[in-house]
Amino acid sequence: MPTITDVPRMTLPELIHRFPTEEKCLAYLEHLRWGGKPVCPKCRKRDAVRVGGRDAVLRCRACNQQFTVRVGTVFHDSHLPLAKWFIAVYLLCESKKGISACQLHRMLGGSYKTAWYLFHRIRQAMMKGIGLDKLKGIVEIDDTWIGGKKPGIGRGGYRQHKSVVIGMVERGGRLQLAVLPDLTSKSIQKAVVQRISPHVDMIVSDELNAYVPALGPLYTKRYKRIKHAYTYVQGDVHTNTVEGTFSLLKRGIIGSWHHVSIKHLQRYLEEVAFRYSQRKNPALFSLTLKNLVSTGRITFKDLTAEPEEQQAA
Ligand SMILES: [Zn+2]
Repeated sequence: MPTITDVPRMTLPELIHRFPTEEKCLAYLEHLRWGGKPVCPKCRKRDAVRVGGRDAVLRCRACNQQFTVRVGTVFHDSHLPLAKWFIAVYLLCESKKGISACQLHRMLGGSYKTAWYLFHRIRQAMMKGIGLDKLKGIVEIDDTWIGGKKPGIGRGGYRQHKSVVIGMVERGGRLQLAVLPDLTSKSIQKAVVQRISPHVDMIVSDELNAYVPALGPLYTKRYKRIKHAYTYVQGDVHTNTVEGTFSLLKRGIIGSWHHVSIKHLQRYLEEVAFRYSQRKNPALFSLTLKNLVSTGRITFKDLTAEPEEQQAA
């Protein structure tokens, strides 16, 4: 439900009109982060007075610590004006097919590296927005291959340059997308256990054999397979919804991102899943900003680390 701090869905001119200066942006971030009562990052007391200055500096009356709303957030060491951050968040939320760092760089100016870093930090914050609640109700699951322009040699060689992505969607609800190391039952099952509730009403896959040992033991009679070869839709037993999200994903990659490095693929997937899952939320912009202001600092090194390092961290 929208709260008092949510701003309604806006057009780009409305956004620029509403958040034209650093002060306006900082005030809004303070609202989102603290609900109007700043919390000292050192002693956690809510007893701060405003010192003022360009960055809306606050001083804790209990421990004398000076701080701003940026402290300990994604905005901590950013030199980019917040109005530009707000526009970038807006564009990422409102561009249905995604938007590339290259495009943002052209629209906002600055360096390509700044735009790239900016977008990936927003995506990282979006991961939190999807929530940890596992998918429920009727869940569809399917796989698709992303990337790889070089054809391989021999049977299946083509796929050696591609990444397999598994999509899991609640019918009428949320989406989860995950890069898998391979399309074995073991990898599928691991992804499913992490993201789908054991108490679904029904889970549907296509007839790929790997799904049976992955889903059968977990869901027994609530697991249904479709037979594409015989009929397109068997009542409720279909994977049309998840297939629809794959075409959204592929349009995003072809239309906007062009080159998605495998290393960063999971973050692009989070972006698509977040936008899809929040498609009916009129306060998407506020929610994303709120996630940003409650996400700890993300350094360039964090973003460029190998996936193994990220998991270990
Ligand atoms: Zn304090």
